[in-house]
Amino acid sequence: MVIELHDICKSYLQGKEQVPVLHHIDLDVAEGEYLAIMGPSGSGKSTLMNIIGLLDQQTSGSYFFDGRDMTQCSDNQLSDIRNQKIGFVFQNFNLLPRQSVLENVALPLLYAGVRKKDRLVRAREMLERVGLAERVQFRPTQLSGGQKQRVAIARAMVSHPRLLLADEPTGALDTRSGEQIMELFHQLHAEGVTIVMITHEPEIAGHAERVVTIRDGRLENGSFSETEQEGETS
Ligand code: ADP
Ligand code: MG
Repeated sequence: MVIELHDICKSYLQGKEQVPVLHHIDLDVAEGEYLAIMGPSGSGKSTLMNIIGLLDQQTSGSYFFDGRDMTQCSDNQLSDIRNQKIGFVFQNFNLLPRQSVLENVALPLLYAGVRKKDRLVRAREMLERVGLAERVQFRPTQLSGGQKQRVAIARAMVSHPRLLLADEPTGALDTRSGEQIMELFHQLHAEGVTIVMITHEPEIAGHAERVVTIRDGRLENGSFSETEQEGETS
C-alpha cells in the first residue's frame, strides 16, 4: 500500500471550540492505483488531501505512507518524504508568476539538489511530454488555464514522485482543457504512478479506477473490504 489511513479524525480550533471536520476516515490506496475522492464543497476533501500530502497532520488516527508510520517522523523527515515522493497539482496552478515556465518546472529539482544543467534538461523533457516544448520561455501569465495546469503537472512529476495528488485539477478549466488534463493523468497512471484526485465533478471522477465519496467529513466505501462486501451482496 502507498497510503494507509486508519481512523483519521481532524478538527480545527475555532476560538475555544474544537470544530470536527474529518470523522474516523479509513482509506487504503494501493501502488499504481488511480483513485478519485468526490464530495460537495466543504465536505473535507482538501483537509484530507493535505493530510495525505503531509502538508497538515491529523488530530488522531494513524497514517502509514509507503509502509512508514508518519506519526513517528520529524518535520524534516516529513518534508523530505513530501519533496521526494509526492507531486502536487492544485485547482489554481500555484505557479510562480515571475519565473519562466522552464524555471517553474525545474524548481523541485533545486530542492532535490540536482545541478542546474540537469535541472533544465529534465524540466525541458517534462514540458515536451505535456506538449509545451514551444512555451518553455513564456511566463505563466502568458498561458491559458489548460496550459498552466500542464505546466503544474510537469512540475509535479519532474522529480518522478510515486504519488500524484491533485486537488480539483480541472476545477478552473473549460471542459476541453479538463479532458486534456485527464488524458495526461491516464498516461501517468499507465506508467505506474499512483494518483489520488479530488473533485466534485462526477464526469471527472469517472476517469479514475475507483471512486470514494466524502460527505460531512465521513468517507463512504473507503476500504477494499467494504467495496468487496458491497459487490457480494448485490
Ligand atoms: P472541501 O475541500 O471539500 O471544500 P475543506 O477540506 O476545505 O472542504 O473544508 C472542510 C471544512 O473544514 C469546512 O467547513 C471548512 O470551513 C473547514 N476548515 C478547513 N480548513 C480550516 C482551517 N484552517 N481552520 C478552520 N476550519 C477549516
Ligand atoms: Mg477543497
